[in-house]
Amino acid sequence: MDHGDHRPRKRFGQNFLTDQRVIADILRAVHARPGETIAEIGPGRGALTEGLIASGASLHLIEIDRDLAALWRARTGPLLQLHEQDALHFGFAALAPEPGALRVVGNLPYNISTPLIFHLLSQSAAIRDMHFMLQREVVDRMAAGPGTGDFGRLSVMVQYQCRVEPVLEVPPGAFFPPPKVHSAVVRLVPGHHDHGVAQSPRMLALLVRQAFTQRRKTLRNALSGLLDSAGIAALGIDPQRRPETLSVAEFVRLSDAADAAGAALTAESDD
Ligand code: SAM
Repeated sequence: MDHGDHRPRKRFGQNFLTDQRVIADILRAVHARPGETIAEIGPGRGALTEGLIASGASLHLIEIDRDLAALWRARTGPLLQLHEQDALHFGFAALAPEPGALRVVGNLPYNISTPLIFHLLSQSAAIRDMHFMLQREVVDRMAAGPGTGDFGRLSVMVQYQCRVEPVLEVPPGAFFPPPKVHSAVVRLVPGHHDHGVAQSPRMLALLVRQAFTQRRKTLRNALSGLLDSAGIAALGIDPQRRPETLSVAEFVRLSDAADAAGAALTAESDD
């Protein structure tokens, strides 16, 4: 494809994949099939897009950079639709041909990857799976277990809703321009509530956010205003523990107890 004189834009997190082996590995992991509906976030110059088009799947491209979107405008048709929009505010659920059927793919702009993932998780009922290239450190945090330094809000909220499967690690040299950090591809599969289902997803989001804002504190202090010591101990959880030692299932139980105790939902918690 002719890229014109487009120069990579830092503000849009543009690090274009150039390593053909990495591109082939990602496409193999996605394994797109005819009849599927796939949303690609940030097609850029098409490193992944060409392979997705070749699969015969129905493809929706969401691209914020008008100059890059222009590369795709002329190629739109029944199986290729272009949305010149900000993925952070895009309604992905509307693309799902049926609930839980949408597939999402993206070499994500790293500067917005965490809010973007929370935005997608809020629409996870529409989504079958997601394959993302991210900073390796973000994939490590998503996949981390309790008691490790990487375990935090992102780990709990992603693992609550999704199976997390690291797929491959990618060095900076696979991109142009090379990013300063190492990258990794992860597969997220929603719909697996392996850790229980919270009575109030909003309470869970609020409680987890509050717990990790104060991660150096004991649980008793970190959850003040939501659950008192006795309420925590009644669940068989030691109020002296630190938030990062709790399992996702324990967070779900704490959330249900806070909900039952009538703790007020005071904050918006989906970002
Ligand atoms: N997919 C291409 C590749 O692998 O070479 C480009 C990846 S580049 C890391 C990120 C892409 O996301 C760029 O095309 C960029 O313009 C686009 N992008 C950045 N912010 C975006 C946003 N908020 N909404 C949609 N696209 C965005």
